[in-house]
Amino acid sequence: MQRTLTIIKPDSMEAQNAGNILAHLEKEGFQIQALKRMRLSEAQAQKFYEVHRERPFYDSLVAYMTSGPIIAVALARENAVPHLREVMGATDPANAEDGTIRALYGSSIERNAIHGSDSPENARKELHFFFSRAELIAAE
Ligand code: GDP
Repeated sequence: MQRTLTIIKPDSMEAQNAGNILAHLEKEGFQIQALKRMRLSEAQAQKFYEVHRERPFYDSLVAYMTSGPIIAVALARENAVPHLREVMGATDPANAEDGTIRALYGSSIERNAIHGSDSPENARKELHFFFSRAELIAAE
């Protein structure tokens, strides 16, 4: 089984869509292996999105991701990384396929409901960003 990371973003938390999103992921065959509700600090959000530092939307993205609580979730499934990308939908909910999580729950290219790791290597890094080695071992 492969693992990936999703983040239930602040817009989903505010709209109380976290339960529906987790149910949607379970119906897609993902196992919830570890889960953490937290509010990111500015430094944490900056670090998590470091690859986007030069993008014009970086400051706005950091402000949004620190605007309220999030839930980080370690998910496991066959082909978890590509499958989550498929179930999540395109970055802009307006372009996301019908039935995808972003089409259902996202409201803008920024406030797009969830995060999903884009490669197995980034999934590993991102899982370790939120969860300790012990938490990830215990989840197996
Ligand atoms: P993802 O892999 O589909 O999440 O997309 P990216 O890695 O390209 O972008 C990371 C996050 O930055 C997205 O999920 C959005 O929340 C935000 N984002 C991406 N593109 C834009 C944009 O053009 N404008 C704004 N305001 N936010 C964006």
